[in-house]
Amino acid sequence: MLAMAKDERGHMIVPHEVATGADCDGCLIVQERGELADLVCNVCDAVVDTVPIERAGATLMELACREICSARCPHCGALNTFPGFTVIEAFICSECGEGVAVSRLVQ
Ligand SMILES: [Zn+2]
Ligand SMILES: [Zn+2]
Repeated sequence: MLAMAKDERGHMIVPHEVATGADCDGCLIVQERGELADLVCNVCDAVVDTVPIERAGATLMELACREICSARCPHCGALNTFPGFTVIEAFICSECGEGVAVSRLVQ
């Protein structure tokens, strides 16, 4: 019954790919152990971060925010992430080095 309560905390669902750019379809889940919480991928078991339990929700939120600040390269398909940015207009792909203009203007 305690386990059910934990499930109802409403942590954000953050895809592993969004959090770290990993080539993975999994999502991060919070695994509590004592005072700490591991943010673990439910598919590949990668530990993305370990934070104090009270920081787990905020850290997931920060990771989820990167979704806004990420863009997929049209040249090679690599996901580029930009921590700290809210709007991207252009970037150089970290995989293939091609310049990518991100334009949402409609003629
Ligand atoms: Zn994964
Ligand atoms: Zn690329």
